[in-house]
Amino acid sequence: MNLKNIMKLSPLKTGIISTVIGGLILALILNQIDSVSFFLESILDFIWHILTLIYEYLIDPIAVPGIFIYAGILIVIFYMIRLLKRSDAKKETSNLTNGPDFLKYNEDMFLGVKWRWKYDNMNTLDRVASFCPVCDMQLICNTTYDGIRSDLKCERCNRIHYSHNGDYDDIESRVEMEIERNLRTGDWKKRIFKENVG
Ligand SMILES: [Zn+2]
Repeated sequence: MNLKNIMKLSPLKTGIISTVIGGLILALILNQIDSVSFFLESILDFIWHILTLIYEYLIDPIAVPGIFIYAGILIVIFYMIRLLKRSDAKKETSNLTNGPDFLKYNEDMFLGVKWRWKYDNMNTLDRVASFCPVCDMQLICNTTYDGIRSDLKCERCNRIHYSHNGDYDDIESRVEMEIERNLRTGDWKKRIFKENVG
C-alpha cells in the first residue's frame, strides 16, 4: 500500500489505523507492555475496539470523518487509562507473589526435614508434606494420645527426624509460615538456587 492509497482510505480505515497506531504509541511511551500476555491482551482488546468501531460505522451511515476520528482518539485515550489502571492492579498482585515463577518453589528444608507442597488455583499453599532427608521416604507423624508430643519418623530408616512438643498441626503451621515468609520476602529465589546447586 503506497502513500497515495493511504490518502484515499475511507474514514473507517483511517480511524482504525489511527486508533491502533495511537494506542500502540501510547502504550510504548508509557512503557506498559511489560509482558507477552499483557501485550496479547492489548491486541485482543484493540481488535474488540475495532469491531466496536465497525459496528458504530454501520449503524451510522452519515458519519462525519473528523468527528469520527476525534471520537476514536478519545475512546483510545479512555481505553488506555483503563488499561493502565488494570496493569497497575496486576503489578500489585504480582509483587505480592513475586511473579508466577514462585510456583516452581515447591520444596525446601525446614526443621531438618524435607518439605514438599502444592499451590491451589488461588496460588495459596496447599497440602504440605514432609520427607526423609536421607532416603526421601514420606515421613509419618506419631503423636501421643494427649497431643503433647509429635515425632516425624521415617519408617524406612527407622529414625525420628524431628520431635515437637505439640501436635502435627503445630508443625505444619510452623512450616507454612516459613514458606509464606520466603515467598513474601523473595528469599525463595535464593533457596531454589541453593537447591539446584546442591
Ligand atoms: Zn529415610
